[in-house]
Amino acid sequence: MEVKVQNIRKEFGRFPALHDVSLDIRSGELIALLGPSGSGKTTLLRLIAGLETPTEGRIFFGETDASEKTVQERNIGFVFQHYALFRHMTVLDNIGFGLTVRPRATRPPKAEIRRRAKELLDLVQLTGMEGRYPTQLSGGQRQRVALARAMAVEPNVLLLDEPFGALDAQVRKDLRKWLREIHDRTGHTTVFVTHDQEEALELADRVVVMSQGKIEQVGTPDEVYDSPNSPFVFGFIGESNCLRVDVDGGEIRFQGKTLGMAAAEDKHGEALLYFRPQDIVLVEDDTPHFEGQIASTRRVAGTRHVEVALGSGAHVELEVTPEQAARLDPKKIGFRPTRWKLFPV
Ligand code: ATP
Repeated sequence: MEVKVQNIRKEFGRFPALHDVSLDIRSGELIALLGPSGSGKTTLLRLIAGLETPTEGRIFFGETDASEKTVQERNIGFVFQHYALFRHMTVLDNIGFGLTVRPRATRPPKAEIRRRAKELLDLVQLTGMEGRYPTQLSGGQRQRVALARAMAVEPNVLLLDEPFGALDAQVRKDLRKWLREIHDRTGHTTVFVTHDQEEALELADRVVVMSQGKIEQVGTPDEVYDSPNSPFVFGFIGESNCLRVDVDGGEIRFQGKTLGMAAAEDKHGEALLYFRPQDIVLVEDDTPHFEGQIASTRRVAGTRHVEVALGSGAHVELEVTPEQAARLDPKKIGFRPTRWKLFPV
């Protein structure tokens, strides 16, 4: 189901946790809310669920205004980081729980609930574990049961709040892949909260980058990574360098020197130049470029990161191949960004 968040403002006391947030979530989409702690991700998720009421604004489920609807009426599936399963219930009973507590008129017969719960158990790859109790499962298995339980009610929307947050790195990675596969098979509209950029970029169809109660950018993983639209997004997603430069007559200059980098003719004055460590070429000839000295280098997976001192306290980090790193002269390194963006100071 499609979900439209329209001009939502949420205050706690006088404190605005969300300011004028609007977002269209497409039917069947897996969307990640990504941002630092306190940016408002969970608040937005709870508003969609109906666990909080907006101070201003509306939320639509399809064509229906859901703002006045209760959590039950919205028919949401939830998975939280620490949403404990019922300890005294078997895995199968946990999964079927949402159906057994339905009013009699909409409650499926017992045998049908069992059949559906078993089907979901297979879907989350826990076949054969129906008789176990939550304490007899690993953390990853518990979260898979929690997801099956959330899906059992055939929710309009699945809301996942850092569902893998408490698990170790390898399990997280496995579950990420698994969640994507399940999503592709079931097609539930899913909103996923995370502060882990790798998780968001790998999993989501679109990423909503949030900061200080506002949406900074919404886009596909490629769009937010390759074309960040603000210094915040540049700094928050992936690694980036930021240098204060001067723009004049269509040229970017750093510490008075031209760099062979063109800027829009109509821009003048100081600006912030952002570029990623890997978006550079090393320059050894006398064409205009940045020049500095190597301050340190470190191995990062298959590459080498070189920290370069550019004078007057300015530093940048460049990513090169180990072969390129071996040939570098520590006293003099030249480079030019191949992809960059200018922002106002
Ligand atoms: P985290 O990643 O740490 O969970 P978040 O991005 O999910 O953070 P929220 O939990 O949405 O952030 O909180 C946004 C802001 O609203 C924070 O400053 C938080 O302190 C505040 N806030 C959230 N819930 C309440 C509440 N019930 N009462 C008062 N302030 C709240």
